[in-house]
Amino acid sequence: MKFALVTGGSRGIGRAICLKMADMSYNVLINYKSNEAEANNSRLLVEEKGVTAEIIQFDVSDKDEVKSVLGNWMEANPEKVIEVLVNNAGIREDALMMWMKDEQWDSVINTSLGGFFYVTRLVVSSMLMKKYGRIINIVSLSGLKGLPGQTNYSAAKAGVIGATKALAQEIGRKGITVNAVAPGFIKTDMTEGLNEKELQALIPLKRFGLPEEVAHAVGFLASAEAAYITAEVISVNGGLYS
Ligand code: NDP
Repeated sequence: MKFALVTGGSRGIGRAICLKMADMSYNVLINYKSNEAEANNSRLLVEEKGVTAEIIQFDVSDKDEVKSVLGNWMEANPEKVIEVLVNNAGIREDALMMWMKDEQWDSVINTSLGGFFYVTRLVVSSMLMKKYGRIINIVSLSGLKGLPGQTNYSAAKAGVIGATKALAQEIGRKGITVNAVAPGFIKTDMTEGLNEKELQALIPLKRFGLPEEVAHAVGFLASAEAAYITAEVISVNGGLYS
């Protein structure tokens, strides 16, 4: 059974990616941190598409939890092969750097960059054995351009971009591609407090993007047809930055 693992699949962009994976006939392993109700809603929506869905709770920033929960799932389900890994879980904790607290720095770095490392190193070993895999990391415009108030988030996402390029070179010969998708402003819980009217004036396409528009790029990179694309970052930002 071929599975796609989507971290942070309970809401927003992650949920749209889960549904895209289901459209591509993947069974979906939906990770979440605490919102079990929304994780179950994602599961139901994925199941409506006629594939299997399972929810799995772990905090991607907690290396012991990742190892025990995801590691145990992989060990207990040897017939279920994770062919696609989407590292999507992320948080933002904005503050000007001079006011930024240790906790704000650590939590954002540990979730995006730490989470990428802890989850990917577990999953990649089985991809290496199968000589096939697709790893897609959800980064951000902030990690390419840098945004004020987001030194933590920009650093975390830029770190993941560097890791994407390095890992792609390590495992390319094993048939595994590693790419990143960098969204701009996308309508989700994460952007709810932002002044959309003001910000959309800066965007050439004059609107925020939809989670499904990010998921579509992820689906392309996850497809067999994208076999010759690796170490790449695709922006989905309405032309805001290129
Ligand atoms: P949301 O805030 O809507 O959803 C975040 C998701 O991540 C939830 O499913 C949440 O789980 C999960 N999550 C958060 N922390 C952890 C953790 N430690 N372990 C496991 N899961 C976790 O975010 P978006 O959908 O907007 O963002 C998804 C990704 O896209 C993030 O990496 C974000 O940085 C990136 N991005 C988003 C942009 C946007 O404009 N929205 C722009 C650029 C990048 P739970 O439901 O359990 O809390």
